[in-house]
Amino acid sequence: MTTETIAQNSLSALGLQQPAWVYCRGDIRPWEEATLHISCEAVTRGLNVFEGLKGYWQADGTQFGIVAIRRHYERLTHSAKLLHIPIPVSFVAFQDACSRLVRALYRPDQDMWIRATLYVIEGHWGVGTVADLVLTAYHQPKRPPAPIKVGVSTWQRPSDISVPPRIKTSTNYQVARLARIEGRSRGFADMILLNQFGRVAESTGACVLLVRDGAVITPPAYEGRLESITLGIVRDICHSISIPFIERPVDRTELYLSDEIRLVGTLAELTPVSQIDEYQLPTSSPITDSIATKFWGAVRGSAPHPAIDVTFI
Ligand code: PMP
Repeated sequence: MTTETIAQNSLSALGLQQPAWVYCRGDIRPWEEATLHISCEAVTRGLNVFEGLKGYWQADGTQFGIVAIRRHYERLTHSAKLLHIPIPVSFVAFQDACSRLVRALYRPDQDMWIRATLYVIEGHWGVGTVADLVLTAYHQPKRPPAPIKVGVSTWQRPSDISVPPRIKTSTNYQVARLARIEGRSRGFADMILLNQFGRVAESTGACVLLVRDGAVITPPAYEGRLESITLGIVRDICHSISIPFIERPVDRTELYLSDEIRLVGTLAELTPVSQIDEYQLPTSSPITDSIATKFWGAVRGSAPHPAIDVTFI
């Protein structure tokens, strides 16, 4: 895999887009106007919390739907609460802002990924903290993700007593960035981070789901992963089609013996893993294919599923 292919497959490719509009300071504004002062805690301490949401054109081609918007808002408020950041918007205002920005930017041949960030723009060491909701939205190809090669990083996921993985804040992605750089130098599109016990935590921007003996297995949140919304969706889909879904600690060597592996997240969706470190995975993936079929049917509205709520804008 060339470096170029790796970049296009990854979250970093989003950064190459410069959409015409962003949402900040309570309104839609030109991209150039979304600036922060160098003295604010968002800049000096990297203090923010954020969410990534996905919007899909529905199968009928006329409606656009955002997946799990309420759950994303709730997780944003949980992250903010843990970092003592007051929430500047209600759910209704959040939903309205997302809809307005997407409507300003969407085009029929592309889905969208929306980043919702609360940047701390006022306050000092937790006194007088004020945050602003900033939304950016990027075009995304409509096709499902292609299989990728993944490595296990030498960098470690911080634990709940250092930088709690449960908090979706940019500072948590410093280690992920190091892992991505390491992975690129070894030819991997993404990397898996182990926790302080040497067990699987998650990848740089998604959870890890593996299949062994017909059961879907994933590490629990206490092993150092984000409380993933997509993983909850996958769990509910598994229950609905009688596939065992087990949350338990996962050893590194189990990755190499897995029948199937997927990276699961809002942006990763259900990305198939073809190789992990120097171990090839089987080419067929019947269990996760059946989950993916349900997932795509629901997010595109051709076969709605109770696990997936889609808000039309
Ligand atoms: N872990 C990390 C580190 C992530 O950035 C993400 C993406 N938000 C996930 C897991 C998956 O979470 P979700 O399914 O809620 O997108």
